[in-house]
Amino acid sequence: MRILRSKAQLREALERPRRDGKRISLVPTMGYFHEGHLSVMRAARRESDVLVVSLFINPTQFGPGEDLDSYPRDEERDAGLAEAEDVDLLWVPDADEMYPEGFATGVEVSNELTGVLEGDPARRGPSHFRGVTTVVAKLFNAVQPDVAYFGGKDAQQAVVIRRMTEDLDFPVEIEVLPTVREEGGLALSSRNAYLSREERDRALAISGGLRAAERAAAAGETSVAALVEAAQSELRNAGIEPEYVEARSAEDLSPIAELNGRPVLVAVAARVGRARLIDNVVIDPTSQNEPTEA
Ligand code: AMP
Repeated sequence: MRILRSKAQLREALERPRRDGKRISLVPTMGYFHEGHLSVMRAARRESDVLVVSLFINPTQFGPGEDLDSYPRDEERDAGLAEAEDVDLLWVPDADEMYPEGFATGVEVSNELTGVLEGDPARRGPSHFRGVTTVVAKLFNAVQPDVAYFGGKDAQQAVVIRRMTEDLDFPVEIEVLPTVREEGGLALSSRNAYLSREERDRALAISGGLRAAERAAAAGETSVAALVEAAQSELRNAGIEPEYVEARSAEDLSPIAELNGRPVLVAVAARVGRARLIDNVVIDPTSQNEPTEA
C-alpha cells in the first residue's frame, strides 16, 4: 500500500492502471477506522483492481461549535488497518491540498434533500451537505473512480451523493453498503470513541428504538407517526431526548404519513454525552424484511 499526499502523486499513480482499463474504486472516509469502514473497503476490494481509500477530515462539513478540532484521528493506526484490507492507495491530502488559497466554489444539492433531517437549519443545516458534496465532487475528480462506496449509516448523505452524481454526470457508480453494528445493535461510528461505558449502554436505545419501529411495521402498523412513536418511546425510557426521529421516503426524503408500499427511512439523531450520534433503518415492504440485527 502506498500513502499519497498530493493530487499530482495520485494522478500519477492512477495513470497506468487507468490506461490499462483497470477498475478503480474509491472509498471516501474521515479516518479513525472501525469495522464499518473496513467492511466497505472489503466490499470494494472484491470488486476492483485498484482500491483507493481517501482519508480527509473535511473541515467544510463541520459547522461552528461542532467537533472538528476533537474529531478522533490516528493516521498510523488507520494506515495499518487499510493495509491489512489490501488497500492499494491511501490518499491523505491536507486541507491546503483540498482547499488552496482562493478556493471559492461549492456544489449544492437542492433543499428538498439537504434542508431536511441532518440538513434542517435547526440541526447541522444545509451547509453541512454543501461541504460533503463539494468535497466528494473534488474526490471524484481527483480519483476518477469507476465506482465509489459509501455506508448506509449515513443514509441521507448517500441519497444526496447519488443525486449529485446523476445531476452532474459523474461517470461513477455509487454503491451503498449496510450499516455495521456492535453486538447489541449500536451502529459503529468514529464518534463512539467519545462515549463512556455508561453512555454506550444508554446509546443502545437508539438502535433499540429503530428496531421497535421495524417491529411495529412488521406487525402491520402503517401509520408513520406510530412507528416514530415506537422509536421515541424506547429513547425516552433510556432518558435520551433525540434531536429528531423522522420517517421519510428512503428514495427522495419526502415526508410520508402512511406506509405505502415504498421503502421508508426511519432516521434518528441524538446526543449522548458529548457524542452526537445518527442511525437509521429502511423499512422496505417490497423486500423480504430483514429486521436490524441486535
Ligand atoms: P466517515 O469516516 O464517518 O465519514 O465514514 C466513511 C464511510 O464509511 C461513509 O460512507 C460512512 O457511511 C461509512 N460508515 C461509517 N460507519 C459505518 C457503519 N457503522 N457501517 C457501514 N458503513 C459505515
